[in-house]
Amino acid sequence: MRLSQFPLNTLKETPADAEIPSHQLMLRAGMIRKLAAGLYTWLPLGLRVLRKVEAIVREEMNRAGALEVSMPAVQPAELWQESERWDKYGPELLRLRDRHGRDFCFGPTHEEIITELARNELRSYKQLPVNYYQIQTKFRDEIRPRFGVMRAREFLMKDAYSFHLDSASLTETYERMYQTYSRIFSRCGLDFRAVQADTGSIGGNASHEFHVLASSGEDAIAFSTGSDYAANVELAEAIAPAQAAPAPSENARLVDTPKAKTIADLVEQFGQPIERTVKTLIVAAAKDEQDAQTARPGLIALLVRGDHELNSVKAEKLPQVASPLRMATEEEIRATIGAGLGSLGPRDLPIPCVVDRAAAVAADFSAGANQDGKHWFGLNWDRDLPLPPVADLRNVQEGDLSPDGQGQITIARGIEVGHIFQLGTKYSQAMNAVVLDDAGKAITPTMGCYGIGVSRVVAAAIEQHHDERGICWPAPIAPFTLALLPMKLGKSYRVREATEALYQDLQDAGIEVLFDDRDARPGVMFADMELIGIPHRLVIGDKHLDDGKLEYKGRQDRDMQLIELHQAVPFIL
Ligand code: ATP
Ligand code: MG
Ligand code: MG
Ligand code: MG
Repeated sequence: MRLSQFPLNTLKETPADAEIPSHQLMLRAGMIRKLAAGLYTWLPLGLRVLRKVEAIVREEMNRAGALEVSMPAVQPAELWQESERWDKYGPELLRLRDRHGRDFCFGPTHEEIITELARNELRSYKQLPVNYYQIQTKFRDEIRPRFGVMRAREFLMKDAYSFHLDSASLTETYERMYQTYSRIFSRCGLDFRAVQADTGSIGGNASHEFHVLASSGEDAIAFSTGSDYAANVELAEAIAPAQAAPAPSENARLVDTPKAKTIADLVEQFGQPIERTVKTLIVAAAKDEQDAQTARPGLIALLVRGDHELNSVKAEKLPQVASPLRMATEEEIRATIGAGLGSLGPRDLPIPCVVDRAAAVAADFSAGANQDGKHWFGLNWDRDLPLPPVADLRNVQEGDLSPDGQGQITIARGIEVGHIFQLGTKYSQAMNAVVLDDAGKAITPTMGCYGIGVSRVVAAAIEQHHDERGICWPAPIAPFTLALLPMKLGKSYRVREATEALYQDLQDAGIEVLFDDRDARPGVMFADMELIGIPHRLVIGDKHLDDGKLEYKGRQDRDMQLIELHQAVPFIL
């Protein structure tokens, strides 16, 4: 590609409203442009990266035997009513009405649509197991879209859904997807961890999130450096007290805090329990003190229930939060929940608040809160929910022995780039999908679902791979492999001739070259190529051509090196 035909849209200044490196660099490199909150146009440079990630995802999904389909983005309300998510999903679901007055939504996820497909297309046990996937635009009306494409409203997701006769088959595919995800993120050049996550009210046996390690990550994860143990800290912290808890008590109720103005007040109140039966304070939400104090102060939801001990670990954190406290409205609670693959967590609660039980029930708080995969702060002791076997990480600290005892705990921040889930029969049952077994008996297939935020992966890769000069793409997802930079192209016939010839040779060798034929100043060329993160750079100038040489520099090399012109192609290959 010649730059004269591929105009860069680079910016010198860092856009004021971009808070994290990936957002800043994607704007500065001219990869994306904002259209409206959470809506982004991908410019040619950005799209090349997105397509590379997509291609890796597609290759690995195909390799794992998954079948690509393409389902409509707009989905009829009837299917969501069948699964009962039309009412439960909350305001993250963008609802539409057509000219005939029929209700639709723009899909945030596709369980209903795939189950509709399955109940029509899958008849016999012989057709199972099957794993369908698509790479497709999703819309979630995120309460606070932020960080560019990292948390957008419209974004590209790979979503896959598998159907099985029994749980053994589901487990097999789930494990294959786990391996596939590991291959995908490794191929993208990412340092990631798969962590245990909550299966929430979706039920099922297992769920893992894949997190790219980055300081800007919105999640905290704990993993063991000496063994395989990994879990989502918030999940573990939040779920542990519930796991340890005895059966639900009729006395369970939310705290009545007419006098509590701050969370510290509340702690004081609970220092001397206001009722014998009300001892436990379950706090889930504040990611950490810093979050609670500064960045997003409204991250606290408090819930009190009977018969259990005060969760002192979390309580200790409470006095650090000095924001005023009030009851969350039903609307606010609704705004924190979603369902299915998608949901919002307490981090999205706009205010520090106490959740009123009636409002929570009305908003079906537990459904969404649990499906978020890491935040347990709902009313789910009311329900017959299987809680996952998450070790008690309540007191987890950096340097602790991991719960399997094999290594030391490290706590890090992560960006959720993928999520795999054993769904069970929730959707197949609600929507009457059945297949006949070999004896002609109707079986409700059990399901798994597997998501990857393809567009989020692009941003996550930048969070992990950048320096003060710009992006440092891992080679497999770089928009171009090589920048070819001639010095004084307009003045030196020899340079032009050598560069054109090399450009041809490199292209013939299948190398993706960006040839800067703008005749710009060297400083401009170097700055642009470093900003957009091209992994390799060749500079051709009269100075070294006399010796038949040119300059090579890797994006993160400190110094350039001279290489033979005629060795350039094998050198890059
Ligand atoms: P999050 O916790 O970040 O809100 P989620 O748990 O709601 O994500 P899933 O329902 O598990 O998301 O969807 C599968 C994947 O889609 C996620 O792992 C993530 O990579 C991606 N994703 C979800 N929401 C967004 C978004 N608003 N913008 C970009 N990617 C997203
Ligand atoms: Mg979400
Ligand atoms: Mg999540
Ligand atoms: Mg998730």
